[in-house]
Amino acid sequence: MVERVLVVTGGSRGIGAATAKLAARELGWAICVNYAGNREAADKVVAEIEAAGGVASAVQGDVSKPEDIQRIFAHADGMGQVVGLVNNAGVVDTAARVDELSADRLARMWAVNLTGSFLCAGEAVKRMSTKKGGPGGAIVNLTSAAAKLGAPGGMVHYAASKGGIDTFTVGLALEVAGEGIRVNGVRPGIIDTDIHASGGDPDRVNKISAGLPMPRPGTAEEVAGAIVWLLSDKASYSTGTVIEVSGGRAITV
Ligand code: NAP
Repeated sequence: MVERVLVVTGGSRGIGAATAKLAARELGWAICVNYAGNREAADKVVAEIEAAGGVASAVQGDVSKPEDIQRIFAHADGMGQVVGLVNNAGVVDTAARVDELSADRLARMWAVNLTGSFLCAGEAVKRMSTKKGGPGGAIVNLTSAAAKLGAPGGMVHYAASKGGIDTFTVGLALEVAGEGIRVNGVRPGIIDTDIHASGGDPDRVNKISAGLPMPRPGTAEEVAGAIVWLLSDKASYSTGTVIEVSGGRAITV
């Protein structure tokens, strides 16, 4: 039988790594673990999946580079039939007000968080669409509570990139709903991963968490639970929706 393959972008650390491991265990799919630069972390995720009896393989690729996306999906094709994509790879930036942002910084934010997600989804749709001879499948996009909050005072550009992901999720869901592909989003709040240190504020999680409705940060595993549910057949009638995994942060009626 041809192996069913899930591509997890940014699967080497944080939410992506937790998703790769949980999906291997709960869905039994082979996991294509993409990473940008941290080969060691990606290999560790692969080794953990294999030790638990699953199938996984790591592939380097920067999702802001179209040629790298081709390489990621060629690697996945070598593993089997792509039936799932988690558009997880994402970056923050050091804090800057809008009037301090250069065109280069904005271009980098859109390239990774938005263009990368669009191009990866495009490759996934080419392989999954029943109209193109594929078996159908599921895509999950990582948005953020920041998209609702606007993140004034330093992260408006990040928030806007995730606002774009919200619209992209709805639009693509409707575009491919008749082609056997479901497209959904997961909206984390403050999750305890390395991303905050990458934005130059390693203590951000502790600073914000006490003031949250649930006064603690979330874990990568808690976000992975929602992602894997959306990928699974249990979510077979859900498309174009977003699950909030934010402990109550930025929820609205
Ligand atoms: P993280 O801990 O910083 O991990 C980022 C992952 O993405 C790593 O595997 C990294 O690979 C990979 N990556 C970074 N840039 C990449 C690129 N250009 N191409 C391919 N892979 C790339 O991040 P996280 O906190 O798990 O966040 C995952 C997603 O959730 C992001 O989209 C983020 O915006 C979203 N999110 C996170 C939070 C939070 O509080 N943590 C809240 C809301 C939304 P290497 O290991 O090789 O560097």
